[in-house]
Amino acid sequence: MTTLADLVRHPSVLGQEASAQEHMAGLLDGLGLDVRHEPIDLARIRDLPGFSPVDWELDGKLNVVGVHDPGPAIGRSLALNGHIDVVSPEPVAAWTTPPYEPRVVDHEEDGESWMYGRGAGDMKGGTVAALWALAALQDLDREPASRVLVQSPVEEECTGNGTLSLLERGYVADACIIPEPFGETLLVRQVGVMWFQVRILGRTTHVLGAGRGVNAIEKSWLVIQALRELEEELNADGRRPDGFAQVDHPLNLNVGTIAGGDWASTVAGECVTRFRIGLYPGDDLAAMRATIEERVARAAAADPWLREDPPTVEYIGFQAAGCEFDPASDLARTLTEHHRAWRGTGPAELACTATTDIRFFNLYYDIPATCYGPRAERIHGPDEKVSLDSMQRVAEVLASVVADWCGLRPRGRSS
Ligand SMILES: [Zn+2]
Repeated sequence: MTTLADLVRHPSVLGQEASAQEHMAGLLDGLGLDVRHEPIDLARIRDLPGFSPVDWELDGKLNVVGVHDPGPAIGRSLALNGHIDVVSPEPVAAWTTPPYEPRVVDHEEDGESWMYGRGAGDMKGGTVAALWALAALQDLDREPASRVLVQSPVEEECTGNGTLSLLERGYVADACIIPEPFGETLLVRQVGVMWFQVRILGRTTHVLGAGRGVNAIEKSWLVIQALRELEEELNADGRRPDGFAQVDHPLNLNVGTIAGGDWASTVAGECVTRFRIGLYPGDDLAAMRATIEERVARAAAADPWLREDPPTVEYIGFQAAGCEFDPASDLARTLTEHHRAWRGTGPAELACTATTDIRFFNLYYDIPATCYGPRAERIHGPDEKVSLDSMQRVAEVLASVVADWCGLRPRGRSS
């Protein structure tokens, strides 16, 4: 509990991950792992499949990895991956208590203890549960008999370039588990996610002549409406693959940010709206880009101003394909078996309407990867929380999985 609270106190939003990464490095070192700090080198990843373009600085950013290398392996190697970055807690005023001052509350409804805080759920709680699993094996005076990597990447909430960079640098394994906060379920498929932004130019003028100006903020509403129509079509029953048949509205469009105008008494001359949209596994990213551009162009063609000066569509951030994880794979069977041994029944299967870093392992490195992590609520929202009881249950299952997958040997035996 202290471990998680200490980690949550680091406000590791995009661009401010360094202190949390240092803290993680200390935790990994405390477990006896060989700690590596790995920079993200844009030149090495920008042409790789799965890369997402950025307009922010990557220089100086570090992924952290803890390596357990017992020498000649008995079992199979395993990566445990937990991103360090969290999303902004704004609006902070909506939180009951400050987002980076974790507190624990016992809830009568479910009899579980919950820790509140930004990142407690997504996903520092899961990461700490994985560390508890390794610590539990040490308490038994045992350690994995094959290589284990504990990966703490940056950039998961915006691009995935952190994990991509780690894989490019050779931090691969025979399987990967990401303890994202999905309620002790086994993730079997996830949507893709694309970020794009639409830039609209208006005609700037003083409001006294507002009739002659064209307001870019107001024109952007035409594009938002057109994209909402596209969203409904994408979610129509006929287009929904079997894997998402039971999911209500799997592909969500989000109007994330809007930045327009620069003076209350000036007609807004420019407006940039940033969107996020989902894709089904197997959907082609280039085809989705073409569809988006076609819908924006169609909306523009129906407007006298935009017809003459059409909006531009730009792509920064997630260009993430959807992906599937085989529930009949060895990794899935191992996780299911140990979940059942502890809980009495197999884990529910999850079709996830968000993306996670498992896509890089499954799609581009041929490494089976899934998510299995604790219960959390209101992730990305105010009063985010994780169940500490659930973290313990996840740690139990993960310890058993590591023992089974990697094999065990007496602790500290030199190789
Ligand atoms: Zn996450």
